[in-house]
Amino acid sequence: MIKVAEYFESANDGSVRCILCPKMCILKDGEEGACKVRVNYNGKLYTMAYGILTSQSIQPIEKTLYHFYPGAKTFSISSVGCTFNCPWCQNFGISQSKHDFALKFEMMPNDVVESAKKYGVNIISFVNNEPMVWYEFVRDVSKISRENGMKNILFTNGYISIGALKGLVKYVDAVNLDIKGFSEEIYSKYCNGTLAPVLDVAKYFIENKVHIELTYLIVPLINDSLEEIGRFVDWVSDQLNASVPVHFARFFPAYKFQDRPPTPADTLIAAANLAYEHGLEYVYVKNVYFEGLEDTHCPRCHMQLVSRYNFNVSNVNLTSKNECPNCGLKIPIIGKPYQ
Ligand code: SF4
Repeated sequence: MIKVAEYFESANDGSVRCILCPKMCILKDGEEGACKVRVNYNGKLYTMAYGILTSQSIQPIEKTLYHFYPGAKTFSISSVGCTFNCPWCQNFGISQSKHDFALKFEMMPNDVVESAKKYGVNIISFVNNEPMVWYEFVRDVSKISRENGMKNILFTNGYISIGALKGLVKYVDAVNLDIKGFSEEIYSKYCNGTLAPVLDVAKYFIENKVHIELTYLIVPLINDSLEEIGRFVDWVSDQLNASVPVHFARFFPAYKFQDRPPTPADTLIAAANLAYEHGLEYVYVKNVYFEGLEDTHCPRCHMQLVSRYNFNVSNVNLTSKNECPNCGLKIPIIGKPYQ
């Protein structure tokens, strides 16, 4: 469905400036933005993706978050488009597609919420393509979902202007924010973006009491140096909090990086060890199985608290207040875990 977009400015010459994300695309009549889903028609900006879905499924929350209702199911939906063009994108089939993607279908916000309810799921998750380019739809679904006592989570690259985020953040319960590397060079050379606004958005979520976890996909020869990973984890502990969960994810050949090998196991383990050495308390390794590296341990007494395998919770060892049963430390896990 085509809908007038929010967050744009019109100029006298018929062009518009989109101010939804830090790219601030200036579009002449008929031009589309870098995200491929916002188009200038006759001096007005339209979103072409409102109610356009490319997938709906019931997924374990562990695909997105480990410290938010562990073991819960989510009603996960995606659309098309992204503000970035990372050549290693694992979801490039939809993230780099246009709004005329062949395998799309339509659902209105109320339909999404009703479908989730029908399946007995009370968490809506916006995943796979960049939810911020789907802004109006994400906000409208999230608002109705909240009115129905449900929760909303996003898997995002965090590339949105703070002005626009102000209109969405009150409906967001939790996010997993992707960090593409820890330098402006990586963001500009590979993603067609910038790092600084992403870091500001991460802080903004925390200031607004939104639960946050971070994912760092380690791509061989791009962002895998321990020096760079060390700067990333130092930023997490200095600027966010040492208790923010960090996921190091394994890269597999995809999109324009078909010729690269998967991330070596040693690199993932070295990154996790470094993060612990630098003081982070909850560090995970994803997309590969290493015994214990998907599990939550108490940072004080090291007791195993939540065991996971292949995105499923297999055991929970927490008090009813989400404390370590051995030493009593309060663990930053939101919600009662399901098993
Ligand atoms: S949301 Fe899309 S059109 Fe708007 S500034 Fe960002 S990339 Fe450009």
